[in-house]
Amino acid sequence: MARSPKTSDEERAGSRDIGALRALWPFLAPYRLNMALAIAALVLTACVSLVLPLAVRQVVDNFEIDAGALLDRYFAAALVMAALLALGTATRYYLVTRLGERVVTDIRKAVFARMVGMSPAFYERIMTGEVLSRITTDTTLILSVIGSSASIALRNLLILAGGLVLLLLTSAKLTGLVLLIVPAIIVPIVVLGRRLRELSRENQDWIAASSGNASETLLSVQTVQAYSHEAQSRAQFDEVTEKSFAAAQRRIGTRAVMTAIVIFLIFAGIVGVLWIGARDVHAGAMTVGALVQFVIYAVMVAGAIGALTEIWGELQRAAGATERLVELLNAQDSLKEPLEPRPIAAARGEITFENVSFSYPSRPDVSALDHVSVSIRPGETVALVGPSGAGKTTMIQLLLRFWDPATGRVLLEGTDLRDMARPAFRRQMALVPQDPVIFADTARENIRFGRPDATDEEVEQAARAAAAHEFLMALPQGYDSQVGERGVMLSGGQKQRIAIARAILRDAPVLLLDEATSALDAESERLVQQAVDRLATGRTTLIVAHRLATVKKADRILVFEAGRIVAQGSHDDLVAEGGLYARLARLQFTDGLVEAAE
Ligand code: ADP
Ligand code: MG
Repeated sequence: MARSPKTSDEERAGSRDIGALRALWPFLAPYRLNMALAIAALVLTACVSLVLPLAVRQVVDNFEIDAGALLDRYFAAALVMAALLALGTATRYYLVTRLGERVVTDIRKAVFARMVGMSPAFYERIMTGEVLSRITTDTTLILSVIGSSASIALRNLLILAGGLVLLLLTSAKLTGLVLLIVPAIIVPIVVLGRRLRELSRENQDWIAASSGNASETLLSVQTVQAYSHEAQSRAQFDEVTEKSFAAAQRRIGTRAVMTAIVIFLIFAGIVGVLWIGARDVHAGAMTVGALVQFVIYAVMVAGAIGALTEIWGELQRAAGATERLVELLNAQDSLKEPLEPRPIAAARGEITFENVSFSYPSRPDVSALDHVSVSIRPGETVALVGPSGAGKTTMIQLLLRFWDPATGRVLLEGTDLRDMARPAFRRQMALVPQDPVIFADTARENIRFGRPDATDEEVEQAARAAAAHEFLMALPQGYDSQVGERGVMLSGGQKQRIAIARAILRDAPVLLLDEATSALDAESERLVQQAVDRLATGRTTLIVAHRLATVKKADRILVFEAGRIVAQGSHDDLVAEGGLYARLARLQFTDGLVEAAE
């Protein structure tokens, strides 16, 4: 459960700097005009801030000479500048913040769009909680960069550049002295900055791991409590969360050291320069106004450098976050979509497995399917039986192309699944999975999931056919009752009936029922069975079942054992053969036999 972050050190070393932020460009590019306007507003405010000290110098140096009209004009000009500054700042704030929100919204959408299409193999490697953490917290870092840091950085760069030029004009000698200090400031920023970025990524990795851990535990909170596992769950979560704190602490510590070094160097530099400047004023080589102007610019430049180091750290955090998002955006699905998908031939429901072998990637040594060959005619009802773990569900998963076979082919209407678009051929199938999946929505919408354009009328028909109508009407708001997250407000049998209604509504040529009636009581099962029988006529039906009554009705029975089809035929043939099926019929189908004997 308490898994460590996925990214290895080598992967992390892949890109060493804030270059990772380049990956954001495709998301920014559509908003070029917005950016240009924001930059214009920014340049305006930066220029105004740079001009102000010039005015201050004039006022200081001319104070005694001409206190009258000139002074009035300077103060009027200051008012105009204040207005420009206010307007420019507000415009920049609006444009830049909005841009940040816009881009992050687009990134979230793009990542989710990618994630929702990934095949199961992908989710064996990453916890869903981790994906969510990347979509929520990592995008927040990017938001802070685009929505503020980047523009603050740009403003400070302008002030730094402009300030340096103006410093030079004010006093070349003093500026030369200032510039001597700059390399001393840059070195710690670069050296420590690199370390900061690694630590930031590590921090985010642990946050994601802790989200993954928390979501897994909370999703099964009842089991956790039933086994009095709360203390261990807390300890596990604490451990992962503390690791994220420890990484944050290391990052903050490094930042603190960097800040101390930079601030000291900057202020030591200013003090030194001032000292020399003061001596120049004393010797009459410089006016007081010029020194004041120089000091203001020096403080502005120093402030800009300070702000830039601060932002450098943030840019690096955002670079780490971008990397993590880009990993998701660029995640390659192990199942490839064909470049030129072939259209589906007439939807009749002809299924062929040709010598199919398959192992799950997490258990490569176990053959989940071992050289399975079978042809299923359109409209045929085929029962899959066999002990648990024999490969029945796997066969259905391969038919839906959640996985590709290692060898052999799976064909629908004579075409390899790999040559068709996944959504297209899956539209030909209706699945009732072993664990029915119910969404946090109304009962009605849960059924409509099977065919989004179905009318309320059709939804009700499907519910009746699945023997769900009665219990749905008994819910407080009938079909419009909310059923809770993952259907917590429903019983296992009720969930199955909603899942069956959904499949009925889908009205697809191939029907896949994976122990679809296992959670039903005898009475509901009889009702559902009738619905399934009706539904199965004219459709190809694969039904994984344990009850003899269901199995006996099938046109053909496939007996699975350890990934192989060990026997097939009708119930009577198979019983006569006296193999695994006869044994299963005696042991597992006893309840069915009782039913049959009645
Ligand atoms: P069943 O006949 O009970 O439906 P399955 O098809 O689910 O059996 O499983 C066949 C084999 O594959 C079993 O050994 C099972 O442990 C293994 N298996 C099933 N799902 C996975 C998975 N996602 N990863 C690894 N092994 C799996
Ligand atoms: Mg199964």
